[in-house]
Amino acid sequence: MSRIIGIDLGTTNSVVAVIDGGEPIVLPNSEGARTTPSVVGFTEGEELFVGQQAKRQAIINPERTVSGIKRLMGRKYRAPEAQHLRERLPYRLVENINGDAWVSVNGRNFSPQEISAQVLRKMKVTAEDYFGEEITEAVITVPAYFDDAQRQATKEAGQIAGLTVRRIVNEPTAAALAYGYSSGKDARIVVFDLGGGTFDVSILECSGGVFEVIATSGDNNLGGEDFDRVVLDYLLEVFRKDTGLDISADKMALQRLREAAEIAKCELSTISDTNINLPFLAVDDTGPRHLSLLMGRSLLNDLCFELIERLEAPCRKAMSDAGITPEEIDDVLLVGGMTRMPAIQRKVEAIFKRAPHKGINPDEAVGLGAAVQSGILGGEVREVVLLDVTPMALGIRVENDRFSALIERNSTIPTRASKVFTTTQDDQDLVTISVHQGESSRASENRLLGMFNLTGIPRRKAGEPRVEVSFDIDTDGILHVSAVDTKTGLSQSIVITGHSGLSQEELERATARARSVGLR
Ligand code: AMP
Repeated sequence: MSRIIGIDLGTTNSVVAVIDGGEPIVLPNSEGARTTPSVVGFTEGEELFVGQQAKRQAIINPERTVSGIKRLMGRKYRAPEAQHLRERLPYRLVENINGDAWVSVNGRNFSPQEISAQVLRKMKVTAEDYFGEEITEAVITVPAYFDDAQRQATKEAGQIAGLTVRRIVNEPTAAALAYGYSSGKDARIVVFDLGGGTFDVSILECSGGVFEVIATSGDNNLGGEDFDRVVLDYLLEVFRKDTGLDISADKMALQRLREAAEIAKCELSTISDTNINLPFLAVDDTGPRHLSLLMGRSLLNDLCFELIERLEAPCRKAMSDAGITPEEIDDVLLVGGMTRMPAIQRKVEAIFKRAPHKGINPDEAVGLGAAVQSGILGGEVREVVLLDVTPMALGIRVENDRFSALIERNSTIPTRASKVFTTTQDDQDLVTISVHQGESSRASENRLLGMFNLTGIPRRKAGEPRVEVSFDIDTDGILHVSAVDTKTGLSQSIVITGHSGLSQEELERATARARSVGLR
């Protein structure tokens, strides 16, 4: 059987891990680093590079350096978060024909899947170098809160990179798997995962080798980059007060400020004050202007106060969904680089009333868990079973914009559910099945995942036809929907790909293009 690798495809950094000799291990990349920045840099020509080298060129070449692409996976150009990013990103976003957000570099447009595929390719090559053989299969992790379109987009990225994605695993579940696999203990654990772009909190029970996720919650739009942003805004304001200059439209200056903000934020996790020095940030009539200031940890905490407060509600929701109190939790695992911030650790301790577990490396836990899952699929790991859940309710739109849920949130996957619906008008021979995901009782407030028609229903009085709609969620959390007229047996079905999925043709083109460009 061919080897399967585990990949943590992070917003900021990615990790590749495998089972070797029965144990999950992280593989160092060609530069010798165990994590690889999820950054893709283009040269003026056809060449591109991934990782540290790409991150390094961000300052001199911001428009050709793509980072944080995970936030755009499966997202619409006009969706609030894509819009928000468009206004702030150093590189250019364009709307493709379906309204999806694509990246424009060197006059060419790339889907977020294609950019992610380059990061995945680097991970694939790292594993190939290690084993000296071609690798074609992977387990990839995603935030638990990723919706259907985002999961599909991740699978497509894998395909473009030449990897069959054997399983999509939720990041917090993977972290728990790594923890449980190494400790071998039965426990009820919370995984608190705050990375560069997203926040997830999950509650799991590990018992006798069975890992069951009992609740999950989070915020898809809260992560380290938001913390960097508040620091960056503060620096812009200080510079404006000092010099009277507004440099918020200067891309190169912004990139330097963004980097300085992130470095200061990270340093303030271990030291109480840090100097920020950015010489020659701008030039005016009086000559070059510099930024120089001392930032203390308490100022950082003040700037980030609201962001830290936003962490609490999802934690409360997960506990209430799981029907447990903090006293019933055995351990809290911290995952994601942002959990190194002391104010965040204090917040976690206040919410869960216990000090977080320190034994696992927050940067590697998810990747190691992906490797454990790849070992389960590949047969190297036999004693572990993983039961994951779906993060949001799934249902269809019915009369008066009501949302009729077929599958409730936190249902263990894979799962199946059916419900019978009927027509609202006499002689109606067509029904439109409009599939939504979310928690609102109004369908239009939930995310539209896809639509299809069931036609040819024999004309009868309103309320007489019986249309059975079935939802089937597979182990990747991807939804298959079917509708059948129970009288005639007429049926229609779709795999939900949202509107952000690439067409088969686009996928093939992207796959060929990914192979043709040089990777350094
Ligand atoms: P991840 O997506 O898990 O790789 O998390 C990356 C995020 O963690 C980025 O926003 C980093 O700036 C942040 N991060 C990494 N190290 C630290 C640190 N020591 N203190 C605070 N934030 C950190």
